[in-house]
Amino acid sequence: MTVIDRRLLLAMSLVALIPARALAETQYFMDGQPVTREVGEAVKILNDSVVLLQQNRNQEAVDALLQAEQMAPNVANIHSNLGLGLAKLGRNQEAIKELEIARSINPDNTSTLLTLGGIYQSQGQINQAIDTYNEFLKRAPQHKDAPKVASLVTGLKNELASGMISSAPPANASADNYLGELGSRLNRWPASKMPIRVYIQPGDGVPNYTPTYMTILRAAFSAWQEASQGAVSFTFVPDAGQADLVCSFISEPSSLTNGAEAGETNLFVNKEGLVKGTIKLLTVPLVAELPLTDNRKRWLCLHEVGHALGFGGHTNNPQDIMFFSTLVSDNFPHLSARDASSLRGLYAGGDTQTARQANSGTPDVRP
Ligand SMILES: [Zn+2]
Repeated sequence: MTVIDRRLLLAMSLVALIPARALAETQYFMDGQPVTREVGEAVKILNDSVVLLQQNRNQEAVDALLQAEQMAPNVANIHSNLGLGLAKLGRNQEAIKELEIARSINPDNTSTLLTLGGIYQSQGQINQAIDTYNEFLKRAPQHKDAPKVASLVTGLKNELASGMISSAPPANASADNYLGELGSRLNRWPASKMPIRVYIQPGDGVPNYTPTYMTILRAAFSAWQEASQGAVSFTFVPDAGQADLVCSFISEPSSLTNGAEAGETNLFVNKEGLVKGTIKLLTVPLVAELPLTDNRKRWLCLHEVGHALGFGGHTNNPQDIMFFSTLVSDNFPHLSARDASSLRGLYAGGDTQTARQANSGTPDVRP
């Protein structure tokens, strides 16, 4: 039997949210310096936008910050928070532009660098992400998030080196599916194993766990089953002893193999294919500024179930659930057409070449 270890790197995506000090009576100050009334008013809008962003009222925050930007084009934090708001709306190219402006005004702003690195990562621009994170580490080696960022950089470099992710879309990328991209990183459950028996250990007592998480995880299994159009099915069983796949919730990131991940799937294979596995899901955000919303829980569940179905690698396409990084945007995630088509392709027909290759052992199969 061979253990395959799948990891999920989380975008550090985090957040300027720095209120500027301002305003006393008629005289306006920012960072101790007197500023014009117009700049002072813009800083008020900036402060209000922090609350809006925290409440996920992203469109309102962006609208307000666009106005503030007109009034005070040289305040770095306005560009930085505007970039964050745009990223949360999924407008990544505009977000990058704003954050690069913020960075040019104030290269030492650590929040700008973290947010920018997270967006580059979530866009699949790995080299830019690594450069930006390294810049952060150089400028703020004592920052509270520095160890996590260092671990993230190491993880990204390892995944690049091992071929788990690529710094550009691979030449063999297909619009229809990613079986070619994942190459030998594919396994599957044999037909004799259907329906796959799943046990979800309730997370009662695990800090931050709520029963909603269980509902979201069950829905993730259903979504993949539906996408398979009959090729894959799951049944939920009442105890771990009867299960092929055991899911659990944990609150300690340190108990996962990589400190910069939010979930982990381990699988066992024999010559028939997959035989059993485990999925562990974190109940806490890796970084406080990126809360584990229901949307992000759903993304994580879909992603880990995808690994458990035999997708042993990651794609370079942010639209795919099997993309290597979570997104900064906080929208309800769906399986992409490529996810669905790849699953059907993986389970189509008899003993496919890809399944045989996977069983013959690959560099990705770790002891
Ligand atoms: Zn993954």
